[in-house]
Amino acid sequence: SAPKPDRAKPRVIAFANQKGGVGKTTTAINLATAIAAESRVLLFDLDPQGNASTGLGVERTARGAGTYALMVEDRPLADVLRPTPVPNLTLVPADGDLAGAEVELVGLDDREKRLRHILAGEGMPPCDYVFLDCPPSLGLLTLNALAAADGVLVPLQTEFFALEGVSQITKTIERVRRFINPGLALEGIVLTMYDRRNNLSELVAQDVRGFFKDKVFETVIPRNIRLSEAPSHGLPVSLYDPRSPGAVAYAALAAEFRQREKARRS
Ligand code: ADP
Ligand code: MG
Repeated sequence: SAPKPDRAKPRVIAFANQKGGVGKTTTAINLATAIAAESRVLLFDLDPQGNASTGLGVERTARGAGTYALMVEDRPLADVLRPTPVPNLTLVPADGDLAGAEVELVGLDDREKRLRHILAGEGMPPCDYVFLDCPPSLGLLTLNALAAADGVLVPLQTEFFALEGVSQITKTIERVRRFINPGLALEGIVLTMYDRRNNLSELVAQDVRGFFKDKVFETVIPRNIRLSEAPSHGLPVSLYDPRSPGAVAYAALAAEFRQREKARRS
């Protein structure tokens, strides 16, 4: 269907968890892709590793200017927008210098609100959602994302000690809410790399649901090899293997996400 008409302000969702390898980037790419079927999405790659950029077909050598140029050098947003293989999904890639941003941002004015100001600025293209793929740390890049976001989506690997890992990010959300961005909400928790053959996965899921209740998405993302193969082809899983369990799961997650968005608006 055709994209909806302009809304005044896009919804900004940060994908954050200080742990690496939990499915932040995989969830950002594949949820963005599914949402882009009905809405315009702008995805910012805030991780110096640039996995969201590679995973959407923007090779390391072809990245040019991206989130570093934008946030540290004040480059206009229009200069750093890249099309992706997905219609309605635009990428701001991670540039090679982004690793330096953690240090360089320290010396800049309003260092934790650079991104927030950019998203509120004149240069924003019309879009419905802004997705922010965060690095695996709680440094200034993640802080910029949390300061700019309406909601945080926390991917959680379904493994032992899952709950212990999540307390760090929830405390950080609490602090950001208190000192920088009172509007920030925990949008939800997504259980990733779920293994149906392993009882432990079910126990961990019950544990997380017991603690975070309906903040946890009903949809769980299974461990699926297609999800790990797709990025090396520069494609979201739905374009790489649309019938794979991973593609089916992210489509279900997107349906649930939309449902929640609708409920939130009414
Ligand atoms: P993060 O962004 O949190 O570091 P990624 O999304 O990059 O995590 O995932 C880490 C690794 O695990 C990547 O190689 C990715 O392809 C793979 N991966 C992510 N989710 C799944 C899954 N559900 N099943 C199998 N592999 C996955
Ligand atoms: Mg990542």
